Amino acid sequence: NNEKIICIGCGVSVQSEDPAGLGYAPASALEKEEIVCQRCFRLKNYNEVQDVSLTDDDFLNILNTLGQTDSLIVKVVDIFDFNGSWLPGLHRFVGKNPVLLIGNKADLLPKSVKKNRLINWMKQQAKELGLKPIDVLLVSAAKGASMQEAMEAIDHYRNGKDVYVVGCTNVGKSTFINRIIKEGTGDKDVITTSHFPGTTLDMIEIPLDDGHFLVDTPGIINHHQMAHFVDKRDLKYITPKKEIKPKIFQLNEQQTLFFGGLARFDYLSGGRRSFTCYLSNELMIHRTKLEKADELYASHAGELLTPPRREEMEGFPEFTRQEFMIKEEKMDVVFSGLGWVTINEPGAKVAAYVPKGVSVFLRKSLI
Ligand code: GDP
Repeated sequence: NNEKIICIGCGVSVQSEDPAGLGYAPASALEKEEIVCQRCFRLKNYNEVQDVSLTDDDFLNILNTLGQTDSLIVKVVDIFDFNGSWLPGLHRFVGKNPVLLIGNKADLLPKSVKKNRLINWMKQQAKELGLKPIDVLLVSAAKGASMQEAMEAIDHYRNGKDVYVVGCTNVGKSTFINRIIKEGTGDKDVITTSHFPGTTLDMIEIPLDDGHFLVDTPGIINHHQMAHFVDKRDLKYITPKKEIKPKIFQLNEQQTLFFGGLARFDYLSGGRRSFTCYLSNELMIHRTKLEKADELYASHAGELLTPPRREEMEGFPEFTRQEFMIKEEKMDVVFSGLGWVTINEPGAKVAAYVPKGVSVFLRKSLI
């Protein structure tokens, strides 16, 4: 039958095909009399928010909603995938509302990284990307590090107003908010979902102590991330869970590194030198001669060079190649959503290969 099934919790259209999509409920839930989507189910039973993904149109709706509010915007980014999780254009929509920038997953970076340096780097990058945040913080939502500080900053900067938390999927926004709920409230049934005029999107409202709300907005999918090209079972090769142990390679000219079968790095010229790779500890790095690299990939992608898995190779996008001339000291070649390679001295010529659709670029070193 063609009748739309509506979630009685939030009013979203219920579907059972895409578990990561808006309005998902398992098929078994559709047989019940009162149907709620999985997101509302978790909210109702566990007081927990769950991330849902959106189309670009939905996201524009959210951005427009933000501009019409008088609020503090909290923007959460993944420090390991800073540029990939940035949400470009947000600053054009927020109007006069201040933006508090929060870098999550600080636990992934080597302990030797100075926090202040990283915060300054984030401020600098934000400026280049057109955003002037009211403040920049670094937290680990999963480990709970600096969460108290973040909650105090939110309370300070919101100045008696509502708070909207935005971020793209996988930055850890749900983890962040769930921690705030646990540490900040402790009450049961405190969370409500609500509709915003002109959108079909549910946003989740968490009451603050003065009658205002902290609002969780759905996360946007970033299509340029590596994560879309690998099997769910292989996400650990991409999304690190533990402190990254940088791997240093001394390379001669005309040597190649493969990062599993997901990306390739050629060192073309600039004399023997070292390259520091910041990638998930689980991902195998394979070194070879440049002249043998094409053949190695052709015959071993999907097995020696994995992920992707063998059975995925057919649908795996072809590599695109981009050359970079390193002209400044301490530069990162960033493989969006996978990690980066730091080059300390200028004068190197390199080439980076990523599956078509994934972005690769140069930036000032984060570390
Ligand atoms: P959301 O899609 O933005 O809501 O992100 P989730 O909260 O679902 O988290 C996405 C992934 O990042 C999960 O695998 C989390 O375990 C992981 N994650 C979240 N916060 C942190 C953190 O502070 N550190 C690390 N290392 N991983 C985190």
